[in-house]
Parts: sequence; structure tokens; C-alpha cells
Amino acid sequence: MNGRLTVMAIGPHPDDLEVLCGGTLALYSKGGHKVFMYYVTDGTKGGLSKPKEVIKAERAEEAKNSAALIDAVSFGGDFVDGEVVADMESRLVVIDAIRRCSPEVIIAPHPNDYHTDHVNVSKLVFEAIYHAAIPHTVTKHPPLKVLPILYYMDTVTGIGFVPEQFVDITEVIEVKKNMMRAHATQIDFVKEHHGVDFIDLIEISGRFRGYQCGVRYAEGFVLSQGWNRVPTSRLLP
Ligand SMILES: [Zn+2]
Repeated sequence: MNGRLTVMAIGPHPDDLEVLCGGTLALYSKGGHKVFMYYVTDGTKGGLSKPKEVIKAERAEEAKNSAALIDAVSFGGDFVDGEVVADMESRLVVIDAIRRCSPEVIIAPHPNDYHTDHVNVSKLVFEAIYHAAIPHTVTKHPPLKVLPILYYMDTVTGIGFVPEQFVDITEVIEVKKNMMRAHATQIDFVKEHHGVDFIDLIEISGRFRGYQCGVRYAEGFVLSQGWNRVPTSRLLP
């Protein structure tokens, strides 16, 4: 990896990045690279009894606290949770978010992931990257000069995902877990609603990917290959 990169990780919901690529983001940051964490939706379906406005504010705060653990910039909440549609209006929102960060590397959900927001965000990011560099596509921020490289992060529990590149996250596994712990409301909600312990999920998924590449804990990625955006060297930590 050459020089200082700007990395933009794009998660459909405020806690997805922590589960699926939090270790890699921690390593990027540790290596002196600039990290943006963009959560596309406001996360307002992530709660049972509270009013949506309260959930929205809590989740924005949790995302900010998680990002602060690795000196990343957190922003987002542009769409309503559960209502992401891959249309032209949405594409322009994602294009502008990408232009705001001007990244060399983007990490986004895999097209096979489990939730419609994940699938549609994956599609929107793929569409937005190319058009983010087109001057006649006008948004608030100026067009990119160079197309970013796109890596897809793992799916939740790895279903339908075969990693092509691995990142050894052993030295930052506790940072990754603490980033997830910053999302306290979701740890409780997911336990209550799905019977899932997020910290256990991070432990088991990290160990599973680690076994695949011979380290203690790992995260897996797939490079999205398209004309003009295939790197000749590895850009993952
Ligand atoms: Zn999600």
C-alpha cells in the first residue's frame, strides 16, 4: 500500500460497518489513513418501543462514539431505515456522499447480503462510483478526479460470500468489539428481537475467517472489478 489513503466505508445501517469491516477500518486508521464511516439510513427500525426521533438521535450518537474510537469521521442517516430504493434520486444522494469524502478506497455491502437495504445500497454504490467522476452529473460537491476502488465486505454470517482477500485483524479485535459495544441500544435490541449476541457474532465470524487464512481473527473482502478501477497493488491493510 503506497501513501496515505482516504477510505470511505458505507454501511446501510449505523452498526453494519462495525460487524463486517470494523477491524479493517481500525487498521487503516492505525496506519495513518483517513477513514470515513457513512451510514446510509437513520436506523429507525432498530428499536421496539421508543419513538423514531429518539431512536434516530441515539443511533447517530452511537455511530459517532464508535467512529471516535478509531478517529474516523461518522456521518449519514440520509434515508429512512428499511426504505432504500435504488432509483435516480437515491443515486444522486450517494454520489454526493462519495464526493464529500473523495476516497481512493470504498468498502460497501456485497450484492448477496440479507437485507433489502444492504442489497440496494450495494447497487447504489456500484452505480454511484462511476457517475461520481462525471462533471455533468451535478450535486453539491465537485466531481471526483479519480475513480475509487471498491471492495465488498462480508455478508452477515458469511452466507453467499466467498472472500478473495483477507485482512488479519487479530491485533484490533478488541477495538472492533468496543466499536460494536458503542451501539449499546442495538446490542439490546438484537438480543431481544433476534436472540443474537452481536459480540459473540463478531467473535465467531472473526475466528471463522481467521481459520480460513491461518490467523486468529480475520475479515474477508471481494474486489469489485470494473474498467478503470482495478488496482495493480493491494489496497487493504
Ligand atoms: Zn444492516
